[in-house]
Amino acid sequence: MMTALDSPPLGLVLDDIVRRHRPRSEAGSLPANIPHLSSLPFDRFGIAVATVSGDVFSAGDADLPFSIQSISKVFTLAMALSAGDPAALWSRVLREPSGTSFNSLVQLEVEHGIPRNPFINSGALVVTDHLMGRYPDAAGEVLRFLTDQVGHQSGRKGPFIDEVAARSELSNSSRNLALAHFLKDFGNLRRPAEAVVANYVRQCSIMMTCVEMAKAGLFLAQGGRGAFGAVVSRSEAKRIGSVMLTCGMYDAAGEFAYRVGLPGKSGVGGGILAIVPGECCICVWSPRLDSKGNSLAGTAALADLSDRTGWSVF
Ligand code: GLU
Repeated sequence: MMTALDSPPLGLVLDDIVRRHRPRSEAGSLPANIPHLSSLPFDRFGIAVATVSGDVFSAGDADLPFSIQSISKVFTLAMALSAGDPAALWSRVLREPSGTSFNSLVQLEVEHGIPRNPFINSGALVVTDHLMGRYPDAAGEVLRFLTDQVGHQSGRKGPFIDEVAARSELSNSSRNLALAHFLKDFGNLRRPAEAVVANYVRQCSIMMTCVEMAKAGLFLAQGGRGAFGAVVSRSEAKRIGSVMLTCGMYDAAGEFAYRVGLPGKSGVGGGILAIVPGECCICVWSPRLDSKGNSLAGTAALADLSDRTGWSVF
């Protein structure tokens, strides 16, 4: 573990991480189903660390808003679990790695409409449906939650939903609609498929900076305690971290655990949220993705940061 005596200050480490990992030439891909993300320059790279002692360190493009996409699934899960009846939610979605792509239809059919975990799209649709039972505008509620956790910063915009991006994704959502209709057919969706998908893409279209995301996820590093008290219980925080470790990086969760050794959740917007229990929450963002949908430069940067600091759950 990095100590004040044997390591450079974290701010300098992050500056060096940016120097090493900001892409210098174009490699990797962009998500095909989200036209809005296709114009992002390949060399964007930001990183931020929010610590349990209240400090925030950042470097690179850490103050540029990016599309959080599937990172939102961590927050909807936390909110759905605290919205009531977690046992009912866990009877509708499992907690096993899927080993298939995040929007796979095949597994859902073979497994009779019970998604493998809450971080693949089918699982997230079930979580959204559960959350809509308490908050019909679940996406708006997720935004409120994130804004609260980030805290008010005068003169800054804060998290927001990119409604234009959401509409453009919705018009390209045949696959998510297919998943939702499968779920409905198997009796695992209470609300209309279209309403759940519309809500889900709005959650995915939330825009946040790395600094904001690191602050918003901090409750998971501090036993469920967020900016204004408990968000989830200590054991729920542990369990969400466990699901992140085993299922948070699409079907590359094993590789990410091997390289980084931390619970993480990625999104096809190029962001990754990683938790160091008892220490800090990290957010890194760089838009180009590997073949599994995880940020290429972001994953490499986290592996490097974990090696340099000793931050790991192992
Ligand atoms: N909105 C994206 C989709 O449903 C999220 C995918 C992701 O970030 O994993 O395809």
